[in-house]
Amino acid sequence: MSHNAESTAFRSALEVIRAVEPRVADAIGAELADQRESLKLIASENYASPATLLAMGNWFSDKYAEGTVGRRFYAGCQNVDTVEALAAEHARELFGAAHAYAQPHSGIDANLVAFWAILADRVESPALKRAQVRQVNDLTEADWFALRRELGDQRMLGMSLDAGGHLTHGFRPNISGKMFDQRSYGTDPATGLIDYDRVAEAAREFKPLILVAGYSAYPRKVNFRIMREIADSVGATFMVDMAHFAGLVAGKVFTGDFDPVPHAHIVTTTTHKSLRGPRGGMVLCGPELADQVDRGCPMVLGGPLPHVMAAKAVALAEARRPDFADYARRIVDNAQALADGLLRRGATLVTGGTDNHLVLIDVSGYGLTGRQAEQALLDSGIVTNRNAVPQDPNGAWYTSGIRIGTPALTTRGLGAAEMDATAELIHTVLTQTTAGTGPDGAPSKAKYVLDPAVAEQVGKQAADLLTPFPLYPEVDLT
Ligand SMILES: *Cc1c(COP(=O)(O)O)cnc(C)c1O
Repeated sequence: MSHNAESTAFRSALEVIRAVEPRVADAIGAELADQRESLKLIASENYASPATLLAMGNWFSDKYAEGTVGRRFYAGCQNVDTVEALAAEHARELFGAAHAYAQPHSGIDANLVAFWAILADRVESPALKRAQVRQVNDLTEADWFALRRELGDQRMLGMSLDAGGHLTHGFRPNISGKMFDQRSYGTDPATGLIDYDRVAEAAREFKPLILVAGYSAYPRKVNFRIMREIADSVGATFMVDMAHFAGLVAGKVFTGDFDPVPHAHIVTTTTHKSLRGPRGGMVLCGPELADQVDRGCPMVLGGPLPHVMAAKAVALAEARRPDFADYARRIVDNAQALADGLLRRGATLVTGGTDNHLVLIDVSGYGLTGRQAEQALLDSGIVTNRNAVPQDPNGAWYTSGIRIGTPALTTRGLGAAEMDATAELIHTVLTQTTAGTGPDGAPSKAKYVLDPAVAEQVGKQAADLLTPFPLYPEVDLT
């Protein structure tokens, strides 16, 4: 039994919870045990620090604080003001942004705030100047409709889903696809890379209101300077969704043309992926959009989560420390070691490698769908997720790809040697797995055959790989 502060804090918390609903305490304990045992290669997940986790479990959760720092619709928000201002200050300093809004509850919510801010800004500013009113609310109904007609269609140009874009970048099933008339840019079929000339061509033809860059499954850097030039050439607002790679921006791995903050009009992010903070979102922008962004709650968002903003302030303070830059560099080194290990063993990777935190394996070379590969790997103790590859013949459900990422394992301390061993384990599972057949004997996109002895053996090797790198070594619940 350890007597350090972290162990005492989590043990005591569980004891208090257990007295009310023991099954919840048990599930929390079981989650730690499961996370400790699994080789987590999910590119969007990480492990937040004990300080970040502990900042969320307290009475800030009890407070309503609609509005912004110093301008609340509720009384008694002085302490919420403190933590929200700290989160915003750390974010501004860390990313070099003029304005930061720390309230979004998630990455999707941050995108909705950004869309709303851009639309409100576009709708309001010319009209307000003309009509000399301060808010859309003050316009007459007739003026409002005239304005909407004047502005024309609300168009969005974003990266296609199968090239690695996100559902919220204007795709039909998502609310963004109902708000915007969307067109997407893909990647060059030969190289798998973004073809900026094609993006420029699409922008000229389509004349979007918003050009979106950012991705969930593109394994390369994006040149945001060029994207901004394209946006400017058609008068579009340039938005970057850095949900996945914010940690690489924070850690100064992505600088110059590859740092979105100096180039975009508005940047959205999650705080829980490579940035390693609490589950949540954030918006960064220049002074022009700041007022509209600050109206996110209550125009778009439900009441702020002050306990999560406290945790954002803690995690962002951590990300400003020099060791975070070292962490970010190791994320990319590990992804490259993993990619090299896979390539050496004959795997096909989308774009042939990586220069960020993720690798996309095209598993069709193994005769598998992404779904079969994902399940076979999971049976073997390796947690990944299936993902479409560009022009995926198996669609978005079965897919032909496996997306793997290194932020989580890098937090545990695994390095290049373990990445090579991981590549070996993945390759073993994928070569040992064969596609199965359905009840009618026809080929199945979901069924697969993997010798349980192989799965067990790989699972054991995966567990051995983790043994020298305990997760939350400072937390002892026994
Ligand atoms: C993960 C992700 C989101 C959504 O984040 P949530 O916190 O799950 O809402 C949005 N955009 C991109 C590009 C993402 O990768």
